[in-house]
Formats: sequence, C-alpha cells, structure tokens
Amino acid sequence: MISLESPIWKELSSAGNDADRLLRDLIESRGELREAIGILAEDLSHQLTYYSATAYVLPHLAALCPSLSKRDKVYLIAQMGAAIAAEAVEPLEPDTEAYREFHEGLAGLRREVMPLLTDPEVHTQLRGEGELGTMFSLGALAVVGDRKHAYDLWYLSGSTWEEGPAACECGWDDETISFTEPPKFLKPAQVGQWDGQSLENEAVWLHGLLSLLDDEMIAPVIPLVYGFGVCPKCGRREPYWAWMDRFVEDC
Ligand SMILES: [Zn+2]
Repeated sequence: MISLESPIWKELSSAGNDADRLLRDLIESRGELREAIGILAEDLSHQLTYYSATAYVLPHLAALCPSLSKRDKVYLIAQMGAAIAAEAVEPLEPDTEAYREFHEGLAGLRREVMPLLTDPEVHTQLRGEGELGTMFSLGALAVVGDRKHAYDLWYLSGSTWEEGPAACECGWDDETISFTEPPKFLKPAQVGQWDGQSLENEAVWLHGLLSLLDDEMIAPVIPLVYGFGVCPKCGRREPYWAWMDRFVEDC
C-alpha cells in the first residue's frame, strides 16, 4: 500500500484527478460514507475507462473494508466494480508497482466479498433493493471472477442488456443481436442451479446470485453470453464472449 503522502499520487490519473483527496476524505470519515464512496468510484470509472489511480486506491479500500458494515461493504463493491473491471481492457504489466498495488487490493477485497456472496443475510437484505443487488453482483464478478466478463456486462448496460454485438473472423458482424428474442444461431449455455455456496462455476453462481436477488435485467441474459454462437455466414462455432470481444476491439 502506497501512502497518501507519496508524490506518486500527483502523477496518477482519474476522471477528476483528485482520487487521493477523495480517498483521504473517505478514510478519515469526512462527509457521508456512501456519498464519498460513490464520488470516488465515479471518478475512477467514468466512461468505463481504466484510470491509473485505481491500482493505488484499491489497497486502501481493502484496508478500510473490514471496518464497514455488511451493507456498506456491499455498497462499496457495487460502486467500485466498474473501475476494477476496466483494468481487463488494458491489463497492467506484471512486475510493475501498479500491478502489485492492484492485485494486493484485489486480494484484500476478495477476502471481504467471498463471504458476502454466500451470506443468506446479505441475499435477504438485497432482495427488493433492485439495482443495488444487480450492481453488487457485477462488482463481485469483477473482484472474484473474470474481469473481462464483468467489463463486457457493464458494456452491455448501454443497451440495458437487451442486445449485444458480435463479429466473426470471416468478416460477418452484427451490432444488435437481440437477447430478448435471441436468433437461432445463438446457443444458450445450460446453466445449472446454484447451491448458494460454491463459487466454482462462474456462470452458475452469477446467474444464481442475480436470480436470488430478483434481478430481471441481467439474469435472463447470462445463459446467452456464457453460451455459443454459430456464425450465420461461415458456420464457425465460438463462445459468445469471443464474438463480443472481437466486435468491441474492432470498433
Ligand atoms: Zn463467420
């Protein structure tokens, strides 16, 4: 963890370029906690961009997390998930200070998130809280699961998860594949029932958690995005994630 007194903070970027000041307010309990978390998270995830301050902020948040109530931990993860997921687009180089800070912070947050994910009390609290449960699920995915998948699901929020893009190597592409009335060439994954405990299969726990929290936006889309597509032009079969990533990279 790099001290807030370090000169490095002057070189780090965020949308408002004052992540260190926002973080200091948060750590020193100035102002309302959730408001402070919300502003800091927005500063680090504006337009789903990765900001260099994120890596250095995470260990501080991981150190703060154990002192928070369960509900505030849930709020923190829901808010910070997009900033963490954005790292997947341009992954940090190993053997750099930024990489070490990012992963130190992530490991600390993972220790806090894993028990929340499987806590029936948290499930009960979040049921009926609508968007908070959905955002917590995506944030948890960014922390304990595949950050690229979390990023892609945030990207799809632009269409409120009603449609997604696809591109095949052969040149075929489609910007607006419907998830509400999926075409025959999209083959949903068979996602098993979640036991509320195991985090072994990402699609199973994510789908199970979203369903438990009464999410109606992303849960129905999970079998499709974790499924396969068969290219209508060349017949090549690929995971939907590969189709989506190719389209987004070509943009
Ligand atoms: Zn093709």
